[in-house]
Amino acid sequence: MGAVLHAETAPDLVHPVIGFRLWRIDDAGLRSLYHDERWSRGRHTARCAAGRLAEHDEPSPAHSCTCGIYAWYEPCPRLAWAGSDSLVGGAVVLWGQIELHGTGMRAQHVMVVGLALPLTHGPKRRRIVSVADSLEAEAVPARRLAAVAKRHGQPVPSELKPRCAPARAGAVVQRDPRADWLDPARARSRRRGRGSGSG
Ligand SMILES: [Zn+2]
Repeated sequence: MGAVLHAETAPDLVHPVIGFRLWRIDDAGLRSLYHDERWSRGRHTARCAAGRLAEHDEPSPAHSCTCGIYAWYEPCPRLAWAGSDSLVGGAVVLWGQIELHGTGMRAQHVMVVGLALPLTHGPKRRRIVSVADSLEAEAVPARRLAAVAKRHGQPVPSELKPRCAPARAGAVVQRDPRADWLDPARARSRRRGRGSGSG
């Protein structure tokens, strides 16, 4: 799968990171795009659903697998969801084990913090407001999603984003999502000792 930052050599991130996703939305709430998986208030934890071929002992997301909860680094373009009554874009915070890829990441724990409102008033807007309320997330104009997310976490530092191969983002945050970010001293010392990785 290419070069990897192993957990013991990658910097510890002590603050949750922010990301962006799309969901299906209906009156019952949010559902993952590609799985029949409902999202409820608070922490959403990844489970490996890859089956026997992908068995691994480590928690999801495993480097050797495709599991984990996916999110992009940047907000999804409005075009990706605005034209559909059943799609909504939003912001999340991610913590636990995180595998970094070129344009996004796979994480162990994720929480919805914001949903993007359509420009128009109507049933979809009312549904988003209601679902956001049930998730204790904010319903905001799309342009404000990143600002909402930054109240709960920080963007993945650009120097940690792999240009092509995925990278393990260290022994990442196993603490409350509202704690504080990257320990610069530990990050520096670990970066000095980083190996070339494998995989
Ligand atoms: Zn897996």
